[in-house]
Amino acid sequence: MKPIERLRALDAEAKLLEHIGAILGWDQETYMPEGAINERADQLAFIEALSHDKATSPEIGRILDDLGSTEGNPGGPESLPTIDRAYLRVLRRTYDQATKLPSELVSEIAKATSLSQAAWVEARKHDDFQAFAPHLSRMLEFNKRIAACLAPEKRPYDVLLDQYEEGSTEAQLTEVFGALRTDLVALLERIQGRPQIDDSFLHRPCPAAAQAEASAYFMKVLSFDSRRGRLDTTEHPFTTTLGDSDVRITTRYIEDYFPSSVFSTIHESGHALYEMGIDPSPEYRRTSLAEASSMAVHESQSRLWENTVGRSLGFWLQHLPRLKQTLAPVLDGVGLEEFYRAINRVEPSLIRTEADEVTYSLHVILRFELESRLISGDLAVDDLPGAWNDGMKRLLGVVPPNDASGCLQDIHWAMGSFGYFPSYALGNLYGAQLWDAMKAQGLDPKASVELGDLGSILSWLRTNVHKPGSMYKPGELVERVTGRPLDPSHFVRYLNDKYAGIYGF
Ligand code: ZN
Repeated sequence: MKPIERLRALDAEAKLLEHIGAILGWDQETYMPEGAINERADQLAFIEALSHDKATSPEIGRILDDLGSTEGNPGGPESLPTIDRAYLRVLRRTYDQATKLPSELVSEIAKATSLSQAAWVEARKHDDFQAFAPHLSRMLEFNKRIAACLAPEKRPYDVLLDQYEEGSTEAQLTEVFGALRTDLVALLERIQGRPQIDDSFLHRPCPAAAQAEASAYFMKVLSFDSRRGRLDTTEHPFTTTLGDSDVRITTRYIEDYFPSSVFSTIHESGHALYEMGIDPSPEYRRTSLAEASSMAVHESQSRLWENTVGRSLGFWLQHLPRLKQTLAPVLDGVGLEEFYRAINRVEPSLIRTEADEVTYSLHVILRFELESRLISGDLAVDDLPGAWNDGMKRLLGVVPPNDASGCLQDIHWAMGSFGYFPSYALGNLYGAQLWDAMKAQGLDPKASVELGDLGSILSWLRTNVHKPGSMYKPGELVERVTGRPLDPSHFVRYLNDKYAGIYGF
């Protein structure tokens, strides 16, 4: 066996274990009886330890070294085939990241994280930031230690960002988000100066069974491959990959707000289409190359389908009659234009996950600004609630009445994830830039949506974004496909055009 093939075989074993763990995790969120939680935690910890051992086996390190992959030149010699170089780069990165953290630190973090998450649940329930503050401080300390292990010469927040979005830095994001923030705040002001939209009919009671039928319909419309995936229900919708032909998505049915299930099903289907579209050839299959380029690229796919396609007038021109029929009599008497305006209503609110397309990124920018200051030490943990509320007032003009709907609303920091939030806003920016690239390359995606032809959009995304998996770093991928580095003006133009039509300015 050639060394590179041996490497793929070892990697495939680690992936098998990872996917087995994912099945346990998926089951825990969907069907597991409550009483099984303790044994399930042991099962998961056991599988995760095995999977970690596989992924960090010294043999992988030796083969990477033998093939000429080093930290400075992870792809190895230029004489190797391009696909092998990409593979070595990806594997060197995960191998180094996993082996640079001492295992005592990893298990110390795992324990502290489960305590921190439990404390966060309680603190949010009782609106008690002080009870959570010591856990947040510990999570910050751990993140600084992780950064010091991975790249002691770099700024800690840059190291953390790089874990989720390879190649991104605080300096780059400060520039991109700074421009975006100014434009979004200006757009929001224009919208608020116009008559507001009534969306009360979206809150009419609608049985879960009818919503489930609508979910099945939209999955079909998007070409979700039901032989390679399925939909279930959970409190918080998510997507998880259990194998190269098994991608699970979830949604939730809120009886007095059916759009929640419609758009979360479309959103998660967008994630699934990405996973299902990765190159199935032997060089990819069951290896680390068969993964998304990054979290933000993943989010660009889900949000492109949910918002750019799913909240467009052309999409509902095609699909509103069917939705009205499925949900009848809920939408009786509601016209196309009225429906389109209602699902795109803009209103600054307290909760990120419920935010509209205009205000969503502002929520993310606030978290980026705060977490970078928490990591650098410029912002003390005790001062977080005040800084959060000031930021909400500055960016969105609303102030949370309590910390539960303020700085305690997201689980990310409680889980020790710092540097993750920017992915959500970057996803919007990548999505808009990809959409414009389709147009520049002769496609007319808007006209395709109006005609009910989503296949041409999906096939373009498959070729350009899905198929390569993690062959390219996210920034590289976007530049290859669109011909330009990340540029927030595509997203800003998209929003301005869309909302000028809706709000009439
Ligand atoms: Zn998502």
